[in-house]
Amino acid sequence: MILIFLGPPGAGKGTQAKILEEQFGYRQISTGDLLRKHRAEKTALGAEAQSYMDSGKLVPDDLIIRMMDAELENVSDAILDGFPRTIAQAAALDDLVKRKGRPLPGAVLFEVPREVLEDRLIGRWTHPASGRVYHERFNPPKKAGVDDVSGEPLVQRPDDKAETIRTRLNVYEKETAPLVGYYQRGRLTAVDGLAAIPEVTDRIKGAIAVRTGTA
Ligand code: AMP
Repeated sequence: MILIFLGPPGAGKGTQAKILEEQFGYRQISTGDLLRKHRAEKTALGAEAQSYMDSGKLVPDDLIIRMMDAELENVSDAILDGFPRTIAQAAALDDLVKRKGRPLPGAVLFEVPREVLEDRLIGRWTHPASGRVYHERFNPPKKAGVDDVSGEPLVQRPDDKAETIRTRLNVYEKETAPLVGYYQRGRLTAVDGLAAIPEVTDRIKGAIAVRTGTA
């Protein structure tokens, strides 16, 4: 089963994907994490993506679709976190799963009002090696500045600064929000992203049970 996490930056997609990965074995595939890895490894794709990411814009569809084609080649169960982000990417993903003769992916929409998102992004800290996400007020690590599991230092993403955050939220509204219409007919479950973290996890588990016919 492929499940798409859809929602603006800061809505909790990465936090929930990590929980479902750690507790239930779903593989999280985050295009943002993959791109950051390409940049750290100084690949050609990383170099091409850099200026778009730093300014909060979307990396061009053809680069992302090529990267995800390769990534999804041998994957059967996964949560896609941050992909698709445009209608062209959503159509490419549907083509890919159809070619493999698999059911079309369902989507979970994280609903969070825009005014809350800026606060959530500004206080966000991540553990780059695992992708674990914390927030200094809403989801703090056990020890400030340190990852709970590995004890390694946390970092703030360079694109989590006020000006870039605004661009990213505008880009979401213009380019990604139309995907709600794309998935609406029978493929979308909305969850209240303002609810407590364990409550959101429960609702997503409910959505998974419906999609896999185990409800
Ligand atoms: P994220 O970690 O999901 O917030 O992504 C960080 C940045 O990576 C975004 O602001 C984009 O520049 C780029 N990015 C991640 N996923 C995609 C995607 N599916 N399409 C285009 N750009 C993406």
